[in-house]
Amino acid sequence: MDDELTVVAIDGPAGSGKSTVARKLAEALELEYLDTGAMYRSVTFAALANGIDPDDEDKVAAVAREVRIDLDPDGSVVVDGVDATTQIRGPEVSRSVSAVAANQAVRSELVSRQREWARRRGGGVLEGRDIGTVVFPSARLKVYLTADPEVRASRRAREVTDLDYGAVAADLARRDQVDSSRRHDPLRQADDAIIVDTSQLTIDEVVALLVEKVDGGR
Ligand code: C5P
Repeated sequence: MDDELTVVAIDGPAGSGKSTVARKLAEALELEYLDTGAMYRSVTFAALANGIDPDDEDKVAAVAREVRIDLDPDGSVVVDGVDATTQIRGPEVSRSVSAVAANQAVRSELVSRQREWARRRGGGVLEGRDIGTVVFPSARLKVYLTADPEVRASRRAREVTDLDYGAVAADLARRDQVDSSRRHDPLRQADDAIIVDTSQLTIDEVVALLVEKVDGGR
């Protein structure tokens, strides 16, 4: 059934350009865009807001099942009715999100919400860590974006105002390590993904390349 959906899966580590590329690609293809990282961040935010230890698997799983997450196309994120757009990107959530994302019960809840999101729309551009490998293994196009660690850290450092380059680089390296080595659905390239190194490319160059790939296939 999912073979009929137009799904574009964009995976890769933090700072590889996923969000910007995915948003612009969705616009070019007239599809909607889903930032699945924002969903893991929202569960983390809700757990912290309720005083729950991010390592308490059962309590965090219950939060994931109950939390209401509203992702607006303009980028704003509302968690249980509270605008959390800024806080989900802050250092506290960034520090704890990989632990929450390693929780299998959290993953299965969010993966089913992501599949439902795409099915309701006939497809979409989804970005994350496991879209091409787990969420939509039959995606029309799978892209794995990557970039040199220094390039990724400087991109992230420009986005956040409250941390310096060293702190951002350390947080990124730690998250890469946890995300790639976790037991459930680790970050990895799908065998049939196109790998694009964005270190030396502009966003528009990457988007143009991907539009061509999708058009070539339809
Ligand atoms: O994309 P972003 O850096 O905002 O994602 C935050 C965290 O959410 C990642 O470091 C990862 O632990 C988790 N994540 C995930 N699977 C996804 C998307 C994000 O495990 N599909």
